[in-house]
Amino acid sequence: MRRLREEAAQLGIDLSDPQLRLFRRYYEELVRWRSRVNLTAVTDVEGVRSRHFRDSLSVALAFPGPVGEGTRLLDVGSGAGFPGLPLKIAFPRLGTTLIEATAKKTAFLGHLVDALGLAGVEVLTGRAETLGREDGLREAFDLVAARAVAGLPALAELTLPFCRLGGLVIAQKGSAVQEEAAGAGRAIEAMGGVLREVVPVPASGRQERRTLVVLEKVAPTPERYPRRPGIPVKRPLW
Ligand code: SAH
Repeated sequence: MRRLREEAAQLGIDLSDPQLRLFRRYYEELVRWRSRVNLTAVTDVEGVRSRHFRDSLSVALAFPGPVGEGTRLLDVGSGAGFPGLPLKIAFPRLGTTLIEATAKKTAFLGHLVDALGLAGVEVLTGRAETLGREDGLREAFDLVAARAVAGLPALAELTLPFCRLGGLVIAQKGSAVQEEAAGAGRAIEAMGGVLREVVPVPASGRQERRTLVVLEKVAPTPERYPRRPGIPVKRPLW
């Protein structure tokens, strides 16, 4: 995990020894739970470090400023905690909520949060389409992140309802994102968002090129969105 310090530094993040120990423990728990829950295909330490930890931390490149007390981050479709938990470890003051539809995965996430002793992390089992209508969650977050959950049109519907006015959605994508972003214009607009920028992530080793698609919430999401569970992905707004 030593190299993670250098890789984080390239992203403008300083990791202390205690923080590096948390990443080491995260890795151990991930491997330990893997036989019970389908969490990740990548299990070698290098792979987890670069494809999961470093890749999650890259989301911070799109943070609009320093993380203050009271900054709230939501990770939609968190899986084994990516990108939300590496960001929480790196930015301990970040109020962090993880939403994940699969209960086996949230069992892992709950265990992990306890094992790492992280304070200010909320793990919710459920679908974004349902939770996105709840008080305290809808229009409540400064930052909403998602990786590998859905194509941009559907993702806009699954994430923007949670974002407060002026807040940002940061979607982690690969390099072929221009077309996807262009095709998502209508969905983004319908949810009260605008495409603010596409941030290239500096390459690390042999990893494929990564980008961050940043949406800004400029108007409240209309009451009819998000639609029923499954519909945003089945019938994305084009
Ligand atoms: N973000 C993680 C996991 C990606 S896999 C990572 O990058 O490693 C996608 C995850 O999103 C799955 O665990 C799936 O259960 C969850 N998911 C998909 N659609 C969802 C929805 N509508 N609401 C909540 N979780 C969802």
